[in-house]
Amino acid sequence: MNKTLVDVEHLVTYFPIMGGIIRKAVGQVHAVEDVSFSICEQETFSLVGESGCGKSTTGRSILRLIEPTSGKVFFDGTDLSTLSPEEMRRKRKNMQLIFQNPYASLNPRMSVRRLLEEPLSVHMKMSQTQMDREVQWITEAVGLNPEQLDRYPHQFSGGQRQRIAIARALITKPQFVVADEPVSALDVSIQSQILNLLMDLQRELRLSYLFISHDLHVVRRISSRIGVMYLGRIVETGKTESVYSTPLHPYTKALLSAIPKEDPAETKERIRLEGDVPSPANPPSGCPFHNRCKSCMPVCRQTMPDAKTLEDGHTVYCHLYDT
Ligand code: SF4
Repeated sequence: MNKTLVDVEHLVTYFPIMGGIIRKAVGQVHAVEDVSFSICEQETFSLVGESGCGKSTTGRSILRLIEPTSGKVFFDGTDLSTLSPEEMRRKRKNMQLIFQNPYASLNPRMSVRRLLEEPLSVHMKMSQTQMDREVQWITEAVGLNPEQLDRYPHQFSGGQRQRIAIARALITKPQFVVADEPVSALDVSIQSQILNLLMDLQRELRLSYLFISHDLHVVRRISSRIGVMYLGRIVETGKTESVYSTPLHPYTKALLSAIPKEDPAETKERIRLEGDVPSPANPPSGCPFHNRCKSCMPVCRQTMPDAKTLEDGHTVYCHLYDT
């Protein structure tokens, strides 16, 4: 096992709900609730769950692009909450974000060359010659044509634009990258190319990823460990193969049962979730999944389940495993 690079401890992020004539806080959206996990060097840890479950807010809270309400994030042993804005800005050279939508994340008025030079000029004091060398290196690493560097983002396809976004995130040679739904805006055939690229770059640059996705196929392919999120909380976590082959939490079982079968002869029953996801502004007492769970017991409505770790670090938050 490699050394731990990122350690997230009891992370909580709430957003105020403003209301009334004088616009004061009248409530809170519990976007991330007591989330803990760690990521080792050169590892991919994925957060998976339905949209709105708090995955993206968790990623942004780790990078302090959103200020967490409480909890700690350690990066290479440094408590990020103790850093000043200037120290955090310098640290971001090592911690980058790849966005879901390369259309929105790339400034349409900047050429690809300028888009790639910008992080170097913000984070590193480089001469033009050094910047030229770095731009050349990352352009080749992500499979873009160096002759197209003076074009603008709209002149590229969706897949090429995501390659530009990846190049921009990696040009400062970070150790840690949060990849937030990096392939979900792309065609399936292009998704595969971009996933292969991310995995190749991970080996080459010794990167650690926090990979965020609602797509269980994609997550299985790229991750060594996963955390399943529901209503701001991790409800199950473990090695990817262990969670996929032996899901423990009723929510994970339902998510996995919805994946289309590769073998049409396979007759695994789909578990249909009933009821709505509760509002994160008014989360239920006890287990957050209890209003949709077919195995719900009286204790589930009252008491939040503790973590139960079974073999090989596979951990679940569910009263079914209390004994
Ligand atoms: Fe279902 Fe209870 Fe487990 Fe929650 S704790 S998932 S309600 S069985």
